[in-house]
Amino acid sequence: MSFSGYRRAPAIAMLVLFAGAMGRTQVAAPTAAEAQAFIEQAERQLLDLGNKASRASWVQENFITDDTEGIAADAQSEYTAAVSDLAEKANRYKDLQLPADTSRKIQLLRLSLSAPAPNNPAERDELTRIAVSMDSDYGKGKVCLPASGEAATSKPNLSGATRAAGSVKCMGLTEVEQIMQTERDPQKLLELWKGWHAIAPPMRPRYARFVELSNKGAKEMGFKDVGAMWRSNYDMPPEQFSAELERLWIQVRPLYLQLHAYVRKRLVQKYGPAVVPPQGMIPAHLLGNMWAQDWSNIYPLVAPPASNTGYDLTQILQARKTSELDMVHYGEHFFTSLGFAPLPKTFWERSLFRKPADRDVVCHPSAWDVDSVEDLRVKICIKIDAEDFTTIHHELGHNFYQRAYNQQPGFYRDSANDGFHEAIGDTIALSVTPDYMKDLGFINKVPGADGDIALLLKKALEKVAFLPFGLMIDEWRWRVFSGEVAPADYNKSWWELRNGYQGVSAPAPRSEADFDPAAKYHVAANVPYARYFLAALYQFQFHRALCRIAGYKGPLHRCSIYGNKAAGARLNAMLEMGKSKPWPDELEVLTGQRDIDPSAMLEYFAPLMKWLEEQNKGEKIGW
Ligand SMILES: [Zn+2]
Repeated sequence: MSFSGYRRAPAIAMLVLFAGAMGRTQVAAPTAAEAQAFIEQAERQLLDLGNKASRASWVQENFITDDTEGIAADAQSEYTAAVSDLAEKANRYKDLQLPADTSRKIQLLRLSLSAPAPNNPAERDELTRIAVSMDSDYGKGKVCLPASGEAATSKPNLSGATRAAGSVKCMGLTEVEQIMQTERDPQKLLELWKGWHAIAPPMRPRYARFVELSNKGAKEMGFKDVGAMWRSNYDMPPEQFSAELERLWIQVRPLYLQLHAYVRKRLVQKYGPAVVPPQGMIPAHLLGNMWAQDWSNIYPLVAPPASNTGYDLTQILQARKTSELDMVHYGEHFFTSLGFAPLPKTFWERSLFRKPADRDVVCHPSAWDVDSVEDLRVKICIKIDAEDFTTIHHELGHNFYQRAYNQQPGFYRDSANDGFHEAIGDTIALSVTPDYMKDLGFINKVPGADGDIALLLKKALEKVAFLPFGLMIDEWRWRVFSGEVAPADYNKSWWELRNGYQGVSAPAPRSEADFDPAAKYHVAANVPYARYFLAALYQFQFHRALCRIAGYKGPLHRCSIYGNKAAGARLNAMLEMGKSKPWPDELEVLTGQRDIDPSAMLEYFAPLMKWLEEQNKGEKIGW
């Protein structure tokens, strides 16, 4: 699974003049009509500036140079300045009785930045420059290993795709991730893990300053800190949102604990108790993924004995000589089968599908709507494998969502909440079932139910393994933003949370000379993360609802809505609402429910849960 940034074009800026500022000596009392005119103008301005910032950011991420960084930072700074300025002006209306629509837009205006800037222009520029430089540093990060294979060095800011000079080979993250999928030598995995985490320490002082400046901006807008601001984005008070996440985690945690115990047992068999403590935490470098957030790459190590999933999608794609472009066409085809219009011609002309050989790009997959209407694009350095087959569905889910709500007013051109945006493409990918594989002609015969445990285990290694990681990233950041965790404890608190939630341990000694959080894209690029935890649950809830609409009666994990226009129409009915209503109203349109309901995920994995409990008899559960 890939967790990607999606780009909502930012919004407005410039100044808005009001009667009160037009030279009268006395400021007239605000009126609701004035508030409405204000917010409509703000909407137009932010849409325009947002599109400009989005275009500059596209160029920066596709051609990382000092100049494009500067241009992107300037555009972002202008946008940020406008939001701060408008948010401050909007305070004038806060005690007025306003139409629901106007007050909702004013609230969205206040919440529209993930890094709110101080009003002081110098500090605002500093903030945006830091933000862009960390994003770029991440994109340029390299792991350099001696070609002879003795000891690793790291060159965090080395430019150029590969430096072949001497006996050192430097690799970008895409290449490193690819090796980690199949490498099973703990020593080599450790070198890659350490090499990548060495890109982050230079960001540490900038990150601390970033926290300071964005907190100042959040306070000026009336929030306690940036974390409280992020948590205010869910149509409920911030404290209630924290409690809601805890409620959800408690419901799914037993499934995670069973999966963790089972995987640990199998890794002990593979690597021995000296490498993997049989009752303890799993070392983070052995799970087939740099962040131990998705364990599906180690499926071959933990597969049920004598299992038969019937097919291996990676092998099928490679055997069929599938191209990057073909991969994207498969994704688009699923959406059109539901009744959605094909992607625009410009999507195919302007997207990035292949990692360029001649320059640095931010390869982290992302989906864009550059003009906030129909200039849809993706940027993915596609690998021909099962993981990216899913990633493409994920990213296209963003694009089809973006287009579905493009008739909404500017402030509402977004998802019901940010978890919805992340969930749509994954919902579709849940319909990539054996039946769908047969529809595509990838397999001749749908495997029987005896292969289900294998399929579910593979899926759980992706979706269930992710849950605690999806939760802990922002648990960490909320503490950092609130000051509960001081810069001197950044790394220590990071590992306390990873240990506690994931039951995963650092594979090498760590200290405050390290800055492991920024070796994760969403920290370096300041993308809020709770959305991915929510999305992991929403997608099963959406999937269950769509399967019921399609009239499906069998086990949830075998359902595919491929080709079902009724399901597509109901999905679209929710998507086209954008952010115009509180998310429970929108959830209800699709599912008939107003709360996040983890029971859909538990239902999907119920046969696996039963199987895991049998496998884990006599094992310690937990760490
Ligand atoms: Zn995404």
